[in-house]
Amino acid sequence: MWELRDASVRFGSTTALDGVDLRVDPGEIVVILGPSGCGKSTLLRALAGLQPLDRGNVWIDGRDATREPPHTRGIGLMFQDPTLFPHRTVGDNVAFGLRMLGWDRAARADRVAEMLDLVGLPDFAARAVDTLSGGEAQRVALARSLAPGPRLLLLDEPWAALDRTLRDRLTAEIPALLRSTGTSAVHVTHDHDEAFAIADRVAVMHRGRVLRVAPPAELFADPRTATVARFLGHENIVDDGAGRRVIRRDAASVDEQGELDVRVTGCRFRGDHHDVTVASDLGTLRFHLDRGFAIGAAVRLHIDPDRVAPLADD
Ligand code: ADP
Repeated sequence: MWELRDASVRFGSTTALDGVDLRVDPGEIVVILGPSGCGKSTLLRALAGLQPLDRGNVWIDGRDATREPPHTRGIGLMFQDPTLFPHRTVGDNVAFGLRMLGWDRAARADRVAEMLDLVGLPDFAARAVDTLSGGEAQRVALARSLAPGPRLLLLDEPWAALDRTLRDRLTAEIPALLRSTGTSAVHVTHDHDEAFAIADRVAVMHRGRVLRVAPPAELFADPRTATVARFLGHENIVDDGAGRRVIRRDAASVDEQGELDVRVTGCRFRGDHHDVTVASDLGTLRFHLDRGFAIGAAVRLHIDPDRVAPLADD
């Protein structure tokens, strides 16, 4: 188990981490979600021992590891830029950490084959790394990070440089892959779809603080503050006099007996739904409806109260 307790890091006048508490349980995937500059990389570096804390502690398996060097923490790292060694084979790259640990040649070869199988690149061991596509290079980097058997893998926007299709594929594959090796992970992203697809729990970060940690479905249904709601992609944040609320895009249905009169200001067909923007007394709202409307149409909507959640002040 890994834990940051009241972790703070300052760079001059910038507070990159501001009293962060975060726990990662064995086998768990925690995703850090937040905009650029909110402190995500600093948090990873602090866990890994690459960034000293100005205040607070890092606990690993019940011991205070705050002053332990990176290599004793059992943590693997994977960054956006895989930086494979260019003049070596795929196999040499994957074996790199094993050689540092003193594994003999035969054991290294076995482990390399196992890791390349795991990431879907069997028979790639002899390939030169400069012949790999971007997605293949990222898989090799993942195999390299996993080869020494880290108990916790830290992934810092690992797919950010890849195209959407590849990103979606790796996003879909990573949870099963980590589970099959029993590896816990902290994965950093600014993309809420990616966070939802991967996370057991999502930690939403803003200005050096962790605002909320919860499983994806719970977080989405009840974001609690407008800042968290916006990071999760919610757009319908309203103040109806009784207080601030977030209304999910799937909360509305067309209903003659409904309670909300709206005028359609935009409508886009999206295959399995229509993405409809409306003007209402609550302001501009956006819903996924099962039919489309002409711009200017007057429509009455019913809002499912179970898909509306109250928001507290930030
Ligand atoms: P993120 O990963 O969410 O983009 P970072 O952890 O990289 O955010 O950075 C958090 C804040 O700390 C930013 O304002 C960044 O400019 C600042 N920062 C990060 N590293 C350094 C550094 N080595 N020196 C000075 N400021 C830094």
